[in-house]
Amino acid sequence: MAALNLITFADAAGSRAGVLLSGGRVLDLAVAMPPARDMLAVIDGGAAMLAALRALAANPPAHALLPLASVALQAPIPQPRRNVFCVGRNYMDHVAEGDRTRGITNSEVPKYPQFFTKAADCVIAPGAKVPTHEGVTKWLDYEVELVAIIGTAGRDIPKEKALEHVYGWTIGNDVTGRDLQRRHGQWFKGKSLDRSCPLGPVIVPAADLSAADLAIGLKINGEQRQASRTSKMIFDVPEIIHQLSAGFTLLPGDVIMTGTPEGVGYAMQPPQTLKAGDVMELTIEGIGTLTNTISD
Ligand code: MN
Repeated sequence: MAALNLITFADAAGSRAGVLLSGGRVLDLAVAMPPARDMLAVIDGGAAMLAALRALAANPPAHALLPLASVALQAPIPQPRRNVFCVGRNYMDHVAEGDRTRGITNSEVPKYPQFFTKAADCVIAPGAKVPTHEGVTKWLDYEVELVAIIGTAGRDIPKEKALEHVYGWTIGNDVTGRDLQRRHGQWFKGKSLDRSCPLGPVIVPAADLSAADLAIGLKINGEQRQASRTSKMIFDVPEIIHQLSAGFTLLPGDVIMTGTPEGVGYAMQPPQTLKAGDVMELTIEGIGTLTNTISD
């Protein structure tokens, strides 16, 4: 069975959840299954609603179908309930390239995941423009990341149970002002510029896709900059959830970005920064491609 592609979309009638079908068709869940009015309701519906969605997607009612071209894709979770949780320095080759910019050639493997957050308001849609933030940062950079969407609440989650709490997977771009990230010590300032968290284009349910070893990559204006596999994470998704949930309750709809592989602009020789007009294409095997452009 093909993996389900869950989306959030909008048109003149407002924002709602849908299923992206073959042939550029969208199954409008506000029509086909009104309780699934938005993605958080879909997630809260759990396995039973997912099974109902599969049945609908396999035999979609014609009156609930829209052409994809007639709607605007939004981030699958357009407004997370709280900050987007992130892990820094989670691929060894990325740790090493960052260390090299500071003259360190014998990088140590991090002992614990480095957690930080991006403000929930930073999330933007596939295709939406990311501002240059000229005058605020001189060094805008990209980071492709596998994103885990939490399905069921939990605290003190053991590693072996962690994947049971994941609803599905999407792609995130952890757009960063590198100079701000360094200047302020804490990363929040450099990581929470307005519109700095493109998310999407779809959520693929965890039941349909193992994210343990997927190709992950990013192109700028067609040039391959990042290319790795999710199996190269230092702390894998179960370990991240285990450690983040220690004494802290994860909630349905929480968004967890799991770190970026090597190939970011600031570690290139010479260092590269994003410029107006640059097209960022982020691809993860089995999920799709998230494309956003830097605006003037
Ligand atoms: Mn990141």
